[in-house]
Amino acid sequence: MKGKRVLVTGASRGIGQGIARLFHERGAFVVGTATSPPEVHDGCVSEWMRADFSEDLSLKEFCSQLSLSEGFDVCVNNAGINVIKPLDKVGDADYQRVHKIDLEAPYKIIQAVSKGMQSRGGGKIVNVASIWSCITKPQRSLYTSAKSGLVGMTRALAVELAPSNVLINAVSPGFTLTDLTRQSLSEAQAQELSAMVPLGRFAQVGEIARVVHFLCSEENTYLTGQNLVVDGGFSIV
Ligand code: NAP
Repeated sequence: MKGKRVLVTGASRGIGQGIARLFHERGAFVVGTATSPPEVHDGCVSEWMRADFSEDLSLKEFCSQLSLSEGFDVCVNNAGINVIKPLDKVGDADYQRVHKIDLEAPYKIIQAVSKGMQSRGGGKIVNVASIWSCITKPQRSLYTSAKSGLVGMTRALAVELAPSNVLINAVSPGFTLTDLTRQSLSEAQAQELSAMVPLGRFAQVGEIARVVHFLCSEENTYLTGQNLVVDGGFSIV
């Protein structure tokens, strides 16, 4: 990763912070994004950009800045939110917010960075999806539709950008110990779910980050358009 320029969205916390930290430790120049002011974050990235993907103007300005930047070798679309609600309680604002952050933003960011990758001779993109892109349960309609869309987009763009040597994959984490998990699950639910994972525990952030790192490294030359499910075996039982 030495000398590589890497973009990680949602690098302020959780899985994104773990991914940014690993790439930074391996010598990459990491540009991280967050909605909050950069000064509150620790030194896991080389440079911060502020963007709120739920706001049209912020996303548009962010993508313009990306297009004007010196470009990236790697882009990790990690920023994401989850809204858990039954169908009859989902409002337009919920629908818009989840699909904007989890689906529209990655698409527009790929539009913005892929031209630069093509002129650099290639690149690597990872979209962080979720096990809920492959399986589902009640009250997950927004999250499952957005993350399934993200996986479909990954496949389609992998085909379209393959001639330019841009490899695009999705990584679908299972239950991972982050703020998002703590907000989505009670302590009792977390214990019950851990017991249902064949490996008997939730993932650490670093276990997801290492898979993303492999996909974006020079070790990966032929794997594209796939959705790698990193869930301790949860979705296969
Ligand atoms: P997290 O701890 O809640 O962190 C979310 C990140 O996304 C933060 O950096 C946050 O930035 C950023 N973000 C949130 N809203 C945003 C917005 N409107 N615009 C731009 N950035 C925004 O989440 P996480 O658990 O690490 O999840 C990371 C990714 O993994 C997500 O795509 C999630 O769907 C996926 N995932 C997580 C799990 C899990 O168990 N945790 C499982 C499967 C998939 P701020 O700090 O500025 O808010």
